[in-house]
Amino acid sequence: EPAHHRDLASTRHFVGGKVPLGLKRKALRVLVTGGAGFVGSHLVDRLLERGDSVIVVDNLFTGRKDNVVHHFGNPNFEMIRHDVVEPILLEVDQIYHLACPASPVHYKYNPTNVVGTLNMLGLAKRISARFLLTSTSEVYGDPLQHPQVETYWGNVNPIGVRSCYDEGKRTAETLTMDYHRGANLEVRIARIFNTYGPRMCIDDGRVVSNFVAQALRKEPLTVYGDGKQTRSFQYVSDLVEGLMKLMDGEHVGPFNLGNPGEFTMLELAKVVQDTIDPNARIEFRQNTQDDPHKRKPDISRAKELLGWEPKIPLREGLPLMVTDFRKRIFGDQDSAAT
Ligand code: NAD
Ligand code: UDP
Ligand code: UDP
Repeated sequence: EPAHHRDLASTRHFVGGKVPLGLKRKALRVLVTGGAGFVGSHLVDRLLERGDSVIVVDNLFTGRKDNVVHHFGNPNFEMIRHDVVEPILLEVDQIYHLACPASPVHYKYNPTNVVGTLNMLGLAKRISARFLLTSTSEVYGDPLQHPQVETYWGNVNPIGVRSCYDEGKRTAETLTMDYHRGANLEVRIARIFNTYGPRMCIDDGRVVSNFVAQALRKEPLTVYGDGKQTRSFQYVSDLVEGLMKLMDGEHVGPFNLGNPGEFTMLELAKVVQDTIDPNARIEFRQNTQDDPHKRKPDISRAKELLGWEPKIPLREGLPLMVTDFRKRIFGDQDSAAT
């Protein structure tokens, strides 16, 4: 490809904008930190599918090689085992920063959200890459506003057991905006609401993976507290589409990315029973400290500015995840038999 052609079709012209008819979109070099994880690996699939080259940086803390092994040998794919808490030198056009111990079981005592995000922002600044932070609905804490709008500042306990995650992400958002204002960095912020789907960690303690694994293993579904607390569950492909639209669009955000369909934990248990085993028992357990009572995204901003909204309701997405969990828990042969 001649150099002048590369310049003409360079990413700066067409990222987010309309690519003129007949002119192919220039492939991007994209870094996905946390790309061996649940959300990251689905994002990597889509980026490679549309022709980009992808570098995954992951320390495999909660991620798994299995999630990306189907790309090994693809010249457009590279995986580096690296902890983002340590600096790294790379050359890319876009950085999706997902690396983070993302479940209550894993995220305690880990500086990834602050130090890791700082390093990735420093990297983005040096090479003038566009930087997308995957923040979380947890920045709203135990919200006093319902549903949550991006302009709500949240209700977070700074010294509780969840604070490392909530406050870590809040700090990550602050750092991101500081680099945007101070270093003129192009940034994007997504606030992700509870997401589920294939490749989710089986034993990381999140409610959807717990219930699905429990129902498959014929164990009781563990409902914490009275089960009347609510969450809104988004299927992973909807999230990935939102992240890419956000990255390639013109708006910084923050944007809520979630499915507004709201369920109590007891309702979720019912959906799992209907999907896997109507006889699955429910067992009540003591709830964890500082558990948010309700959570539901207001996605008007993403609808209007990104032209995005989720398409897959819980009752459609759950069976897709169950197929994957069946294979991983029982192996292929048993799943064929059941
Ligand atoms: P995940 O645990 O599957 O993926 C996180 C990945 O980051 C893993 O592959 C892990 O090995 C890697 N990682 C962790 N610490 C690292 C470090 N120090 N250096 C390099 N790699 C590291 O979780 P996920 O659900 O895919 O979450 C991805 C992102 O989305 C996270 O930033 C998370 O906070 C955010 N998010 C997810 C949800 C959800 O419901 N899944 C909700 C809100 C926000
Ligand atoms: N950094 C990195 N890769 C780079 C550039 C920076 O990992 O290509 C790290 C760097 O080690 C530092 C952080 O990003 O810890 C912030 O970098 P920045 O240049 O913004 O801050 P400074 O080093 O000037 O404090
Ligand atoms: N929860 C539950 N049973 C479980 C795991 C979690 O009832 O086995 C509840 C938990 O108390 C919380 C909700 O499900 O109210 C969502 O928990 P999760 O950890 O999945 O997500 P988050 O709290 O981060 O939204």
